[in-house]
Amino acid sequence: MLEVINIHKTYQDQPLLKGVSFSIADGEIICLLGASGSGKSTILRIIAGLEKAEQGDVRWAGRSLGNVPVHQRNFGLMFQDYVLFPHLDVFENVAFGLRMQKCDRKMISLRVAEVLEQANLRGFEKRQISELSGGEQQRVALARALAPHPALLMLDEPLGALDRALREKLIDELRGVLRRSHIPAIYVTHDQEEAFTIADKIILIHDGLVAQSGSAPQVFAQPANEWVASFLGLGNVITGIVIPGGVRSSYGDIHWETGLKLGQSVTLLLRPQASLVASGGTINGLVADIIFRGHEFRIEFKNGLHFLLSGGVNNGLPLPQPGQEISLKVHQAELL
Ligand code: ADP
Ligand code: MG
Repeated sequence: MLEVINIHKTYQDQPLLKGVSFSIADGEIICLLGASGSGKSTILRIIAGLEKAEQGDVRWAGRSLGNVPVHQRNFGLMFQDYVLFPHLDVFENVAFGLRMQKCDRKMISLRVAEVLEQANLRGFEKRQISELSGGEQQRVALARALAPHPALLMLDEPLGALDRALREKLIDELRGVLRRSHIPAIYVTHDQEEAFTIADKIILIHDGLVAQSGSAPQVFAQPANEWVASFLGLGNVITGIVIPGGVRSSYGDIHWETGLKLGQSVTLLLRPQASLVASGGTINGLVADIIFRGHEFRIEFKNGLHFLLSGGVNNGLPLPQPGQEISLKVHQAELL
């Protein structure tokens, strides 16, 4: 439906986007996830037509949008610093886009009522913007973006300005509203939990390119490279050289068969789940700290690696103490 093809964008001689491509299917919610400054907002502005790419194309239903002006694209935008009109009440804020489209009064009231219902704001019509909480304002902004039936909705860090507790509550609501609307959406965030909650498909942006795309479970199970594994905090990323029976690294020897040629350079992802063994584990280390986490303990090694010990499967060994040298059997390791 929407295709973003080989987008290049440079600012002040600094290439920001170096060939970004992805697509969105009908009714799909995708999430652009990447560090601050990776170019996510720029990608949205290019799709919206607010910014021109130097190279590449944006297509809708197979047709290039290159010469289609912003207002004719029929894309809804909800940006980070969403600005509601403070002098208008909730109804008028939500009706704004419909008035621009010259809808008649009856249609406007019907549609406003419908999107307010979708955004869990029934009965809010006459409320003033200044009387609303941050979360309510955010939902009004969403209702306003949905009202004109956009062909595509783009949300740029819509929860970025809210505090953590409110964000966690709103993200589930937002997910529900987006799903009920059946409008395809691009959601931009640097917060992976938000991304995983909202999206059918995650597009990871790094170094001007799509580092990986796929469903959250796919990306979690098979990170495409070192950056993805580190960015998502999937475990300990370790580089080293293949030796008999394992890998030699700056963290010590890792006893994990790679099946690769001796002397070859490798990058390993050691997932954090581990259990304590008396000796001969995957990795040995000096404990810097051990932190109780409810169902498990987080073990931090002096060298910076960290692992999670489940309360149960530790072979009857006593809980390690800081300063102790221990051996851990890592439950899952993979080559990157
Ligand atoms: P993100 O949304 O991922 O944080 P942005 O797309 O906002 O990233 O921008 C990435 C970088 O591109 C910014 O850090 C900035 O240096 C540069 N940039 C973005 N827009 C402009 C602009 N209009 N003029 C100059 N540089 C820009
Ligand atoms: Mg941004």
